[in-house]
Amino acid sequence: MAEAKFIANDKLTAWLDELSGRMRVLAPTRQGDAVVFAPYAPGQQVELDAEATAPPKSAVFPASEELLRYDYRKDPENLGQVEVELLPTISPEPTLVFGSRPCGARGFLIFDRVYDGAKYKDPYYLARREATIFATIACRQAENSCFCHSVGSAPGDATGSDLLLTPVEGGYVVEGVSDKAAPLLESSLLEAAGDKVDQAKSLREKALQEMGDPQDFGPASKKLLALFDNLGFWEEMSAKCISCGACTYLCPTCYCFNITDENAGLTGRRVRSWDNCMSFQFTMEASGHNPRPTKAHRLRNRVGHKFSYYPDLHEKIIACCGCGRCIKSCPVSVDIREIVTRAMDYQPKAVEEAAK
Ligand code: SF4
Ligand code: SF4
Repeated sequence: MAEAKFIANDKLTAWLDELSGRMRVLAPTRQGDAVVFAPYAPGQQVELDAEATAPPKSAVFPASEELLRYDYRKDPENLGQVEVELLPTISPEPTLVFGSRPCGARGFLIFDRVYDGAKYKDPYYLARREATIFATIACRQAENSCFCHSVGSAPGDATGSDLLLTPVEGGYVVEGVSDKAAPLLESSLLEAAGDKVDQAKSLREKALQEMGDPQDFGPASKKLLALFDNLGFWEEMSAKCISCGACTYLCPTCYCFNITDENAGLTGRRVRSWDNCMSFQFTMEASGHNPRPTKAHRLRNRVGHKFSYYPDLHEKIIACCGCGRCIKSCPVSVDIREIVTRAMDYQPKAVEEAAK
């Protein structure tokens, strides 16, 4: 791996300008009250000091993407005969996601097991994944909604990133993590990091220590399964929920989608869009039957998927990177940590025991 470098604060904009001349750069940008990953233009103000409101999920998995276009062609010699021509649309743009937090980059490892699995490979996802580089900034201090250390990560975790920047006095230590990072380190604006590498390591260790002891979610998988039929528990947990879907749309590890065909005469396109399992329509069947008719059913699915069903399929790995966005952004303060903890601590009441 390349030698660690240092970028001074007063050269950061020039480095970003340089990088944006080589590829599309997405950087945290203020838009009203929110900070989102938006295309960077030279000289633009970026927000690197706090976790972005939305993770960089759409860099690899856009909120809405065209999967293909199609044209119907009538055969003039046989008007009953119609040919369909399919026009593929995969053309990923080389992209640098600059300034994501470790949890934002690590979220894609959860996607990878699904979209790059042994049985199925999603060509759209894979093409964008390959074309995207993550330059992540280690967190100097965790927020109180963060729990990355309880799901196998840390404020300075480089897993899933290609380049790790750690804030130190006067700038950032820049360390290559994957081979994809090497071209980004070739810049006269960067200097040798020297003993700043040790400062960066200490800062990452301190940030982790300050988070306190991690919570052990190991028992959650079995406990959540045991509570599957206890709708009373899920009704209590979901009582405040207003089914807005903010928790799923802002989650770096939620990957559900819907597909729609949009026709305009003899031409059309197939579009994939994010879907939201907290919505009533998510499991609505054409017959009108809905297997998850209440918000209790839907919250059970969301929490169960992340802490039980996914880990059961994928080597006990929890499908949550502990970013805390669902906690911070929920308008009624539903806290996924609290739900999982309540499930793990749940003791059947004497009445339920007697009924068994
Ligand atoms: S479930 Fe919540 S804390 Fe976990 S990754 Fe999703 S938004 Fe972050
Ligand atoms: S953000 Fe809160 S209120 Fe909205 S769907 Fe999620 S849990 Fe329910």
